[in-house]
Amino acid sequence: MQRGINDHTVLDLLERFRGTGVIVRFIEYMDVGNRNHWRSELVVPSQELAAQIGSRWPLVGLDPGYRGEVAKRYAFADGQGEVGFISSVSQPFCGDCSRVRLSSDGVVYTCLFATRGTSLRDALRGGASDDQLLEIIRNLWLKRTDRYSEQRAQLHGAHERKVEMFYIGG
Ligand code: SF4
Repeated sequence: MQRGINDHTVLDLLERFRGTGVIVRFIEYMDVGNRNHWRSELVVPSQELAAQIGSRWPLVGLDPGYRGEVAKRYAFADGQGEVGFISSVSQPFCGDCSRVRLSSDGVVYTCLFATRGTSLRDALRGGASDDQLLEIIRNLWLKRTDRYSEQRAQLHGAHERKVEMFYIGG
């Protein structure tokens, strides 16, 4: 949701999917890539959205479905399903981040906001075995220091060009 752009559609969207089994999740508007003209004032914090939704349909907090789940889950108290909030801007969760992304040309990125990745393609074309690939990924993971969302206030705009979302598939 973006403030003043589409945040007036929140309740309509939920109304469409309540009771259908489809879980709607709202991701706070983020400065992914270099092209979306992100501004912090356009972010609608999850807490604000949850309050708005809860005043129409009371919500009950749910436990995470698994460790590292990025969405905070709530059930509609009337049993009509569930809604989730991913609060990457207002409540960053880098400490629990367990995801890497692989581009279609074989580059591994350890953060959605990374400026550089590591080529697995070169290792593969060089004849690396599965064990060697595993070792490359393990080393990469153990050495990573990514926590862009926690440092957004300092890094946004001052950062090198970030990988584009379309390049790493979201
Ligand atoms: S900013 Fe990077 S390290 Fe933090 S949660 Fe997002 S992908 Fe993970």
